[in-house]
Amino acid sequence: MRRIALIQGDITDASVDAIVNAANEGMLGGGGVDGAIHRAAGPALLAACREVAAVNGVRCPTGEARITAAGALDARYVIHTVGPRYGIDPAPAQLLADAYRSTYRLALENDCVSLAVPAISCGVYGYPLEEAATIAVGVSLEDEFQPLAITFYLFNAAIHRIWEAELQAAEGRA
Ligand code: ADP
Repeated sequence: MRRIALIQGDITDASVDAIVNAANEGMLGGGGVDGAIHRAAGPALLAACREVAAVNGVRCPTGEARITAAGALDARYVIHTVGPRYGIDPAPAQLLADAYRSTYRLALENDCVSLAVPAISCGVYGYPLEEAATIAVGVSLEDEFQPLAITFYLFNAAIHRIWEAELQAAEGRA
């Protein structure tokens, strides 16, 4: 049976233990999925983010994750992670895998099972979609994360197709 589900749609519609946000290091909101999550969650999410410890304005270094309350979203938590900026940050594949792993470990530590996850780094941060899909699906299928029920929310048909192809390829290899 599949542990990973794919939905083409808006992640702010998810009803799960934790919604994952593709944030930036400051964690005080931004564009893309980050902006959509903050708009849907309301000011309580921004207030929760401000409480996360910052070092020189950095609340979540690239490749790491932080957990907050979820404001008005239908979730217990938002897990904020920061993926690499493709072509700018060195070792992007490692950093993208780190972002997913940090997110999933934080979910397990906080007794979350169901997660809604966006395509981290695949918007403004410019990660090539096929390569991102291989990493996203590969990490999600690691044994350590077997307790999690992961639903990827893919924002358009093209990216949904790429994730679906990658998932089928991974299942073929299993
Ligand atoms: P990053 O800065 O990590 O690249 P973006 O938010 O720019 O993050 O994009 C990440 C992915 O999230 C992109 O594929 C983008 O199309 C998608 N996205 C944007 N808004 C939403 C949303 N409301 N729900 C789900 N995915 C979204």
